[in-house]
Amino acid sequence: MTTTSSAVESPLTGWRIGTKTLYTLNLDNKTLFPDNDHIPVDPPEPDERWVIITEVLSNPRRHPSGQSFIVKDKIGDRFPVIFSTQNPTKDVRPYKTGRLICLVNGSQSNFQQNVGYLVRKKSSAYMLPCNLPTLRRLSARLQAQSDAGEFGQCCNVCKTRSGLRRCRCRTRYCGTDCQRWDWNNGHSKECKVIEALIVWNRTEWF
Ligand SMILES: [Zn+2]
Ligand SMILES: [Zn+2]
Repeated sequence: MTTTSSAVESPLTGWRIGTKTLYTLNLDNKTLFPDNDHIPVDPPEPDERWVIITEVLSNPRRHPSGQSFIVKDKIGDRFPVIFSTQNPTKDVRPYKTGRLICLVNGSQSNFQQNVGYLVRKKSSAYMLPCNLPTLRRLSARLQAQSDAGEFGQCCNVCKTRSGLRRCRCRTRYCGTDCQRWDWNNGHSKECKVIEALIVWNRTEWF
């Protein structure tokens, strides 16, 4: 199994903090973002991270071990995720239907006939406020903008490079007209996701 160096790379994404790829997730990387068929069998090494990204399909239900969701992963496999944390009822609150539960170093457990994932610590799950297609689309676009030297460097609408103001998600605009236009044409749905990706990249998980 390959490991990534945590000294220079963001523990979750494997990309270096402070570079142009900061906000993007390469979901096709099977080592960092395994699907249900590619979960490492060995426990993680101390500096090893993988994240199973799953989309919530149901409201949480009471379960003998806590609170349980049905989710699907990026290849469409469906399985339960059970929060068996200190306060499961409170800890599942951010995870609404259509949002993502990102399971850090998740490994499979058996529940009666079912195979699923157990979340024992609140900090080993992370919420992204969007569904899988949106994350994929957004990541690809941010990557393209970064590659073109545009993300955070010019107005997101008219590409002006001077006099820029910053949205709380760090997207930049030349002024209120462009910012308002963008907000009404898609940014209102993406702003919170980009913000969450920034926090994701800054989080030290263990
Ligand atoms: Zn502009
Ligand atoms: Zn924003």
